[in-house]
Order: sequence, then C-alpha cells, then structure tokens
Amino acid sequence: MRRLTIRTKVILWYTMLILLLTGLLLVLTIALGRTFLRNSLYERVKEFVEENVERIQYEDGRYIIDEGYIDRENGMCCLAYDGDGTLLAGKLPTNISLDYDFVDGQFLEFYARQRTYYLYDRQVMFGDGGVIRLRGLIYDRESIHVITACIHAVLLILPFVVLLSVLGGQILLKHAFLPLEKAIRTADEISAGEDLSKRIPIGNERDEIAGLARTFNSMLERLERNFEQEKQYISNVSHELRTPVTVILSQCEVALESKTITEEERQILERIDRQARKISESIAQFLMFGRLERGMEKLELEPVDFSALVRHMCQDYRLLPDVVPEIEECVQDEIYLSLNREMMTRLVGNLLDNACKYGKDGGKVCVSMGRKEGFIILMVTDFGIGIEPQEQERIWDRFYQAPEAKGIAGSKGIGLGLYMVYEIAKLHGGEISVESTPGCGSTFTLKLKDDSF
Ligand code: ADP
Repeated sequence: MRRLTIRTKVILWYTMLILLLTGLLLVLTIALGRTFLRNSLYERVKEFVEENVERIQYEDGRYIIDEGYIDRENGMCCLAYDGDGTLLAGKLPTNISLDYDFVDGQFLEFYARQRTYYLYDRQVMFGDGGVIRLRGLIYDRESIHVITACIHAVLLILPFVVLLSVLGGQILLKHAFLPLEKAIRTADEISAGEDLSKRIPIGNERDEIAGLARTFNSMLERLERNFEQEKQYISNVSHELRTPVTVILSQCEVALESKTITEEERQILERIDRQARKISESIAQFLMFGRLERGMEKLELEPVDFSALVRHMCQDYRLLPDVVPEIEECVQDEIYLSLNREMMTRLVGNLLDNACKYGKDGGKVCVSMGRKEGFIILMVTDFGIGIEPQEQERIWDRFYQAPEAKGIAGSKGIGLGLYMVYEIAKLHGGEISVESTPGCGSTFTLKLKDDSF
C-alpha cells in the first residue's frame, strides 16, 4: 500500500467507497421494498377476507355461505371455519400446514414451498352463538421479482459507475497533480544541473497544489538571489584582497633578499611569506570558483603535455616546506591532451593538496597516470584518514567538509577544492570518482577521454 502513488490511493479509496455505498443502498432498497410490499399484501388479503365476511350468515344454528363467497383470487385464498374448527368453505393449498393458533386480527408471515406467505385471521361472532373464523392467505409473488430486478439493475449499472468514477478521478487528479509533478521535475532538474533560475510553470489555477508551486517558486527566487549575492560577495572580497596580498608577497621577497636582516627577522619574514601564500592560494580558489559558477564564459583549450604537467606538479609539491608525505609518481610519457592548462593545474593541485593534507604523516602519496581503453586515467592515492561511506557523495559539494577532516591539524581548507575538481572534470567531459576506506586511505580517479593529438 505504501508503494502506491497518492493518485492510485485516492482512486482506490473512493472506488471502494462507491462499491460500499452501492451495496448499502441495495440492501436498504431491498429491505424497504420488502416492507412496502408486505404491507400492501397484508392490505390486500385483509380486504379480501373482509369482503367474504359479508357473504356468510348464521341462521337457526346453521351457517349459510353466500354464492358470492370467493375462496381463491389472484394468489389469495380464504378459508372459513366454524367455532369447532370445521372447514366450511375454501380449500387449503397443497403441502401447506396452517397449525398456527387463530387470533382475531393477527397478521402472520411464514415461509413454505420456497415462498413467503402472509396470513390474516378474522373472527365473526353472530348474536345467537354462532362463530365463524376466516383465515386469508396470500403469497408473495412480487418481492422476489423486485429484488432480482434491483440486483440486475445494480449489477448492470455498477461497472459503468465504477469505470466513470475511475476515469473521471484519473483525469481530475492528473490535472490537479500536474503542478506537483512539474515541481518534482523542476526540483530534479535543479539538483541535477544546479540551475536555480528554473521555475515551475503555473497557470491560473488557484488550488492548493498551485499554491505549493507558487511557494516553491518564490523559495527558488530567494535562494537564487542569496546565491547570487554570495557569489558577488566572494568575488568582491577576493578582488579586494588580491592586491594587498600580492604587495605583501613582493615586499617579503624584497626584504628576504636583503643582506642586512638578522636571522630572527628572516624567520619572521618567511612565516609572513608562507601565510600570505596560503591567503593568495585561497583567493585564487575563490576567483576560479567565481568563474566556474558563472558557467565559464568559454572553456579555452590548448594542447597540453599532461604527463609533464602532472610530473611538474608532483615535483613542486615535493619541494614545499610543509608537505609531510613522500610523493611517489608513475606517469606514462607523452600524454598530450586539449585542456585548459590553468584549470587542470588547479585540479591536479587540489587532489595533491588533499592527499598531502589527509594522508598519513610520514607516509606516501602515489600518483599514477596512463592510458586505458580509450581513456586517460589519473589516480591520486593516499594512506591517510579515508572518508566515511556516507560522506563520499557529499565531498563534491561546495563548502562541504567532513567532520573528521575539520580536526586535522594544518587542515585549513575551505571546502571548495573537490567541488572545483568535479566541475573542472565535468567541463573537460571527464569524470572524477573516489574509492575510500576510513582509516586506510583514499584513491581519487580522474577519467578523461583520450583525444591525444
Ligand atoms: P577542504 O578544503 O576541506 O580540503 P575539499 O573540497 O578539498 O575541501 O574536500 C572536501 C572534504 O573532502 C574535505 O574536508 C575532507 O573531509 C574530504 N577529503 C578530500 N580529500 C580527502 C582525502 N584525500 N582523504 C580524506 N578526506 C578527504
């Protein structure tokens, strides 16, 4: 039942209700019809008996039955007995016994010979001691026909009623649920493509679902506005910070080249330089993020020696002062691809950055690249903290950081690295995936089409 759609549930519910109501109505009609028929049969038999009362006389101790006495008529019969119970007129229908006590004025219903019979007793007292007892009998010929006709009529009409209600309900509910289906489709499209500019098309409907769609649209509008503001804010701040940081870095460089500084001053300057480089790196990430978010004006590709790019990146990381693990590299030669160099450098850099950040202290990071079945496969493996299975889907979201990563010393990330890796891979028509075991390490795999030139 839980798997059924709301539409099916509603249709099922009211179809059952219609069937139940029809059944109840049928039972009620039959019961009322029978009561009505019984009353009319009682009336008829009573009338019939009363007419015969007039046709019996008692004179000089003898009963005189008039010629007009009718003992049978239209399924009725009238039996006349004297006070001792001797039958004076009329004939009892065969196979019926009338062992019921005689009570003046009583109506009685009984069943015999697969029929329902109705009985009426009437006693007449004559002045000079004579007593005559008339017993009228009628059987119910009509009610069985009426009931059968009712059942037939209902059985004939019912399928049409059910069909009409199911079809009508389908059309009505389909129409009513249309905005909801559109809302679901739009929500799916948004979550698949993250395009917040989409809206649910609404007509002039004023029902609850159209109301829901309207609320959904206004929520999307607010979300889109907030995202735009956030993007604008990040972009503005990044641009504002870029110049001062560049000045700090160049001034540090000049100062470090000076021969007159003391050892202590050198250490201070080097620390400032390291921190300024980190800020500069974050700014670069933010600016690239802004460009990716704007949908990349146009992806500018150039022929790149990808093998050399990856090797140089590994070499650069080996030279960084605070990189702890050893980087082992196994890169196939001469892999040339059409890439956006700046972006690919960032992608490889972000993967190496994470592998070093979340890898084991003093452990190693393995970088391998080669051709496989028409694809270029780049793998970056570390043997560090790993990623919990439930986190593995979410690490690609912007600004997402797994709880375990937040506690890592020196991990001052902002949660944009993998988001950018994902977007850059997508822009290049490639795929990025992760395989990870918590506590053992992770392997990030980039798969690009091998369009070597
Ligand atoms: P951050 O700036 O936090 O590193 P990223 O977008 O690069 O942001 O990564 C998102 C999250 O994915 C990280 O916070 C971390 O939890 C997880 N993660 C990324 N790379 C690794 C890795 N090599 N090992 C374990 N966890 C990782």
